[in-house]
Amino acid sequence: MDARSDRVTAYIGLGSNLDGPREHVSRALKELDTLPLTHLAGYSSLYASAPVGPQDQPDFINAVACVSTRLSPLALLDQLQALEQRHRRVRQRHWGPRTLDLDLLLYADLQWQTSRLTLPHPAMHERAFVLVPLAELAPEVTLAGKTSATLAKHHNSAGLHRLLP
Ligand code: ADP
Ligand code: MG
Repeated sequence: MDARSDRVTAYIGLGSNLDGPREHVSRALKELDTLPLTHLAGYSSLYASAPVGPQDQPDFINAVACVSTRLSPLALLDQLQALEQRHRRVRQRHWGPRTLDLDLLLYADLQWQTSRLTLPHPAMHERAFVLVPLAELAPEVTLAGKTSATLAKHHNSAGLHRLLP
């Protein structure tokens, strides 16, 4: 496995809207702590949001997690995709329902663009369900020179609700 000698902080966006989505997201948060060379350093509250794209599907549950890892970016993506598979994610249609979606949002301050992986995650700055939980967890983390707190504050977050534990 592709490992580094130093530890890196990475942020992961979690989402689910099928088969007990709160349970999928809560379980996945714990499972992030069991990935090789990786431990869970923190996580946001859970949030409920109306789906992007087709509206004839249940609301999404979202959260953002912070991990400390020695995995390379692609090795971490491999582990996240394997975890999605263990939740039996079925891709029926683009932006359709899924049991678990894991997006690698940030990996230190790395900028990276390949067919398999783009960093920072290309859509994160336009998604309230990513920015708001990220700002709760890490208000000072920056994206294109702006803090997550500033980005979240200026983003329309109507339709997003923080869930009580
Ligand atoms: P989406 O999350 O956009 O609904 P998927 O989760 O199915 O779609 O991801 C589609 C592809 O996006 C994956 O095969 C993966 O290789 C690629 N990808 C590119 N950048 C990232 C990233 N930062 N995090 C997760 N997947 C990414
Ligand atoms: Mg994804």
